[in-house]
Amino acid sequence: MSNGCFILCENCKKETIYIKKSQNKCFYCKKKIVVDSKIEGLVVALNFCGIKTSSSCQGHGSGFGDSKWSFPCIVLSKENNNIEKAELLVKKYNEKQEKKGGSEWSIVAHKFMQKHERILVPKDKGKGLKELWEEVDIFARYITGFFF
Ligand SMILES: [Zn+2]
Repeated sequence: MSNGCFILCENCKKETIYIKKSQNKCFYCKKKIVVDSKIEGLVVALNFCGIKTSSSCQGHGSGFGDSKWSFPCIVLSKENNNIEKAELLVKKYNEKQEKKGGSEWSIVAHKFMQKHERILVPKDKGKGLKELWEEVDIFARYITGFFF
């Protein structure tokens, strides 16, 4: 498993170094960089393999909207071919998951996102956070399995 990656600073938009389970500060603007602990592995794995994320949330206990669902979501940066790379990865992963009846992911647009940004979310959002966080780890292990 990778313990770190380059990550986009939400504040100054530069790529800085991020180390798992550490107090991370942007090398350039010194702003604290916080990634929710339950999705840290997946965020690091994505950024490590060149899919840039611009923000993320592990989900909250109370949920939001009418459904009161709560689920992890990772915002994908719109730079270069970032979304296309992520779509390719998710497609590959979903094919594998489909065979073994596992959980799939999707990349969707959202009204709160900037024009070309997309979010990575579990397909089955109503599952409950505990199970979804396990799915996050399975996806992260799949990605890091390419490299280690
Ligand atoms: Zn910064």
